Amino acid sequence: MRDPYEQYRALNQSPPFGDIDLFASDGPLRDAVAANGLGKETNSLSAFGRRWGSAEMLELARQANENPPRLMPFDAKGYRRDVVEFHPAYHLFMAESIAARLHALTWRADGAAAPAPAQVARAARFYMAAQVETGHLCPITMTHAAVAALAAEPILAAEVVPKILSRDYDSRFEPWWEKKGMTLGMGMTEKQGGTDVRSNSTAALPTDDGYSLRGHKWFMSAPMCDAFLVLAQAPGGLTCFLMPRFRPDGSVNGLQFQRLKDKLGNRSNASAEVEFADAFAWRLGEEGRGINTIIKMVQLTRLDCAIASAGLMRMALAQALHHARHRHAFQKPLADQPMMQTVLADMAIEVEAVVALVMRLCLSFDLAASDPQEAARARLLTPAAKFWICKRAPVFLCEAMECLGGNAYVEESPLPRLYREAPVNAIWEGAGNVMCLDVLRAFATGGDAARAVLSALAEETRDLSGTRDLAARLSEPLPADEGNARWLVERIALLAAAAALGQSAPSLIAEAFVHTRIANAQGSFFGTCVVEGASKILQRALPR
Ligand SMILES: Cc1cc2nc3c(=O)[nH]c(=O)nc-3n(C[C@H](O)[C@H](O)[C@H](O)COP(=O)(O)OP(=O)(O)OC[C@H]3O[C@@H](n4cnc5c(N)ncnc54)[C@H](O)[C@@H]3O)c2cc1C
Repeated sequence: MRDPYEQYRALNQSPPFGDIDLFASDGPLRDAVAANGLGKETNSLSAFGRRWGSAEMLELARQANENPPRLMPFDAKGYRRDVVEFHPAYHLFMAESIAARLHALTWRADGAAAPAPAQVARAARFYMAAQVETGHLCPITMTHAAVAALAAEPILAAEVVPKILSRDYDSRFEPWWEKKGMTLGMGMTEKQGGTDVRSNSTAALPTDDGYSLRGHKWFMSAPMCDAFLVLAQAPGGLTCFLMPRFRPDGSVNGLQFQRLKDKLGNRSNASAEVEFADAFAWRLGEEGRGINTIIKMVQLTRLDCAIASAGLMRMALAQALHHARHRHAFQKPLADQPMMQTVLADMAIEVEAVVALVMRLCLSFDLAASDPQEAARARLLTPAAKFWICKRAPVFLCEAMECLGGNAYVEESPLPRLYREAPVNAIWEGAGNVMCLDVLRAFATGGDAARAVLSALAEETRDLSGTRDLAARLSEPLPADEGNARWLVERIALLAAAAALGQSAPSLIAEAFVHTRIANAQGSFFGTCVVEGASKILQRALPR
């Protein structure tokens, strides 16, 4: 008998995207980690990729974001509580990431840097996790990066670092010394300024056992962290502090949450406005040296912004390609329509470039302590990579969404969440212009070392036809004025990406990147260029 409802059944839809190995199915990632010293970890990376690519994790990510955290400022009797409740799925992501040591892989037990390729090993996992759930990665990033700043106060670090590096996530609201593990956040931004932290007005007064801080922070994410790195004005100038949620005597510290931000994206994560009501804190580093202390942390958080944006782009590409291979229009899969193939291949080239660039940059972090050239590379290319990758991500996400058509514009699809998430990495930890100013600062303060990085990039791209003019242009005296900084920084990032691709990707890919991004002016949109070898590029991006 004919099914009377047949006409209402969904046809011509792609099957759910899930239960995939985010590592094994990602040729560019596999090549990038192998080229940067991580050839031997294939099995554990695949195990991580299968876990994070499981349908279960993708579903939990949806739940964590559709049930945003809730502020509980008071209890029933009106006493202050200042706690934030998160959905269980958020806690699960925290526990998974901490068990996998995404917050700790690059540190030895004493807080010193772990040997290479620790940064690459962490970044490969962080990149996969970012494809699934980025909100919880905010405290994971801050906890990881804070270790760098804690080095300024070795006695305090010796107590705190072992708790930070624990594999146990402990979400209880208890003093950190009574917990199995602890997480860290940071508070720099105030109402009157985020970039210009010297305009901070939070005041810090010395007390018998530390400092007492009074003031506000306009954005303080992951407010249930156990302690925060904050900047405040001490008598000797802008200073970095470690502010715990509990005072040393075990009483609740004076952090009063005013409200949680109602954010465009990043919804599984809480971002609080907070008043410090004579809150207790320990000093990190000397008074007046606050920026120097915290900048070590900021360099690492900026690196994570670039890795996370690369991960968002990768997931969007995989979703677009998967859908286009199953969805038919005009008697052919969309992925076989010539124009769609160009669009997808052009996007795949972009993802090849961002993953190659971030993994090569992580190798520089790995080698920085023993190799001054790699240290200079990390210094110059971190803000350049953050600028370029994080600003490309929202544009990329928009195009990926269009590849899925209307199916991606509904909230049941993961694309809206990825799309809303994309701009934040460009804004926090220093917005685009600020990254460009930081690149200019690298030339101003370490000019020879920075220029040596450009010479090395020119040398590394010598065999890629089409980079010569750009390399030559970058070897001339560079425009030092701020008005041209975006032009300069974008080109440095493009040359660095070409160099990274030259080292890790097949020549077809590296040449295609140079051809479409450097030798010829790319059009305003993805797919407005000639892409050779599109089907090979797409097979490598996601095997059929
Ligand atoms: C979701 C979210 C969570 C956050 N969480 C935290 C947190 O946990 N802790 C924390 O401390 N902060 C946090 N922030 C704040 C964030 O770091 C700041 O928003 C960011 O640093 C930019 O500062 P601002 O918003 O004050 O912008 P501004 O500093 O006012 O900058 C605005 C614009 O001006 C540009 N600009 C600034 N100076 C110059 C210049 N000299 N020349 C040209 N252009 C310039 C910037 O590039 C930017 O585009 C968070 C922000 C968001 C969105």
